[in-house]
Amino acid sequence: MRAFTEKKLLVATHNAGKLEEIRAMMAPHGIEVTSAGEMGLPEPAETEDSFIGNARIKARAAMQATGLPVLADDSGISVDGLDGAPGVYTADWAETPNGRDFMQAMTRTWNELDARNTPEPRTAQFRATLILMWPDGHEEIFEGVAPGRLVWPPRGAKGHGYDPIFVPEGHDVTYAEMSAAEKNAISHRARAFALLEQAFA
Ligand code: IMP
Repeated sequence: MRAFTEKKLLVATHNAGKLEEIRAMMAPHGIEVTSAGEMGLPEPAETEDSFIGNARIKARAAMQATGLPVLADDSGISVDGLDGAPGVYTADWAETPNGRDFMQAMTRTWNELDARNTPEPRTAQFRATLILMWPDGHEEIFEGVAPGRLVWPPRGAKGHGYDPIFVPEGHDVTYAEMSAAEKNAISHRARAFALLEQAFA
């Protein structure tokens, strides 16, 4: 794996929460972190059918616009009984004319499993893919996976997205019933970040 020895890193996100998480992680390494949102870069269309493909689109667009090394991510949930759906369309399933509605997305997921008579446990994986891209085009990929099962009805008010119907393997509570600290210790994103840290060691 190529070690990251640059002094500056551009995070290809418009999400302030993700940016702060990464900024805190990079601070001990003396790396200055900026973001696509802070630099006013446009958000490219995510037209690929894989998490890696969409992360690469975001990384390449930000890198070509600035010449800086870039970190980009993509994430979502893949349900085995739905042949991996919603996958890269995880956020799209929540789209409504009035913004995102994740209760709609969770209901669709459960209803489609019912329509296929999928037996329980209804297994699924949350996946987080990170790409670190250097200005010469070299890239390193880090993937975190959290296996688990879906439950109905939704449980818990913490978290976001599909958290209320996802029970991670080895646990009895949903992501949305866990504290942020509990979830961050085991989540797909935490696993991907743990791998990423190796590039900065
Ligand atoms: P993106 O990686 O920001 O494009 O997010 C894709 C979508 O995946 C989000 O909008 C969420 O719906 C979903 N997602 C990713 N990680 C999580 C999670 O930890 N909990 C719940 N939903 C998530």
